[in-house]
Amino acid sequence: MADGRHRATQPVSNGYDAASLTHEFEQLMRTKRLNRLHEPSRSRTHSASPSPMSNSSIPPPPTRAPPPPPSLGSPTAAPSPKPTTSSALRGLPIMPSPPQDAASLKFYNLLKGLSVTPTKYENPGLLDEALSVIPLDRLYSEAEEESQIMQAQAASVAGKPEWGYQDCVIRALLRWFKGSFFQFVNNPPCSKCHMPTIAQGMTPPTPDETARGATRVELYRCSDTSCTAHERFPRYSDVWQLLQSRRGRVGEWANCFSMFCRAVGARVRWVWNSEDYVWTEVYSEHQRRWVHVDACEGAWDQPRLYTEGWQRKISYCVAFSIDGATDVTRRYVRNFSRHGSPRNRAPEEVVLWSIHEIRRKRRENMSKTDQRRLIKEDEREEKELRCYMASALAAEINNMLPQGLTSRREDQKHPGARQEASTEWLAARGHGNSGPDRSHEGR
Ligand SMILES: [Zn+2]
Repeated sequence: MADGRHRATQPVSNGYDAASLTHEFEQLMRTKRLNRLHEPSRSRTHSASPSPMSNSSIPPPPTRAPPPPPSLGSPTAAPSPKPTTSSALRGLPIMPSPPQDAASLKFYNLLKGLSVTPTKYENPGLLDEALSVIPLDRLYSEAEEESQIMQAQAASVAGKPEWGYQDCVIRALLRWFKGSFFQFVNNPPCSKCHMPTIAQGMTPPTPDETARGATRVELYRCSDTSCTAHERFPRYSDVWQLLQSRRGRVGEWANCFSMFCRAVGARVRWVWNSEDYVWTEVYSEHQRRWVHVDACEGAWDQPRLYTEGWQRKISYCVAFSIDGATDVTRRYVRNFSRHGSPRNRAPEEVVLWSIHEIRRKRRENMSKTDQRRLIKEDEREEKELRCYMASALAAEINNMLPQGLTSRREDQKHPGARQEASTEWLAARGHGNSGPDRSHEGR
């Protein structure tokens, strides 16, 4: 344990201007407590008022039901072993601690099981097979063109291009995958007469479906009374099979697209969210950070889509890769008091321990150099995530104190956090009045 791994088990230190952040936090809590005291009388006299963030330009959540995570059954909400705070999300130091009770052990086992998903991509035969269906020449030339445009734009303002060539390759892959390769399926159409079908519940997989990796099969009946054929929809979590079937819901989309990113040489993460949604993260060498990619939505670098866009409440987002796991909730839930859901599956100390344990397992056979590189990366990402929280906190304080008594110095440190409090954010990213893309529904 002389290597950097030891450091990873130390409590998370607060490198970000700890004293002033703590002070701001205390101020905020004081104000919140005061507000809470006033709340009962207010709620009696007023009907529920709209949230200050509610904005007609924010698209509604998609109507389709999100699927359960692809590889495991739907996780049941465990009873809280003990009340937890969001201290981990607030950047306060916590000490990793192994699970001591059944609920904590269950959560660790869930994460451990999920962490296997991206390891399945590390199969040269599979990646070759994937490459054989990707129109590489087309994607590379699209990427080249986009990358040159970005360079020219940057040169005209004497700046740095926003994205590099590798990022543009993934962006081209994303357009092709959503536009031409994968199909979104709600109710599969009748294969006899192509009429819509009606859900009939689940049915046991056939031996053939089991052999192809389907653990669950949905059954549908043709809506045409003169046909009444049955249609089976096996839910495949096996990426080999997804190359063939090329259809599914969010789970299949994220799984197959993540594998394709790997096939074109990107470092990739498969991100699991406790509210039964999944997506991808790709490492941008150009920006030296992990970038959110949602194949199903065709979304690139829009981490606040789920909370500020769809108004979802989220408790955990965990990113899994061949290098381990990272709790990336803070990237997706910038304002935990507004968009956070209680993190009560296990104490935060256990969550941290579980993440460290998965990392340790994935990295134990790596060279010391690689291990050190990954620890450096973890530290840099921790700083990035902490900055999001600090920035959201500062924005909240600013909102409570209209005169803006707090400074905006974190903006200068991390320009990416600048738009934190802006409700114009989604509009600026083309999600203005259009709502979420539903073009793939009912196909
Ligand atoms: Zn039919």
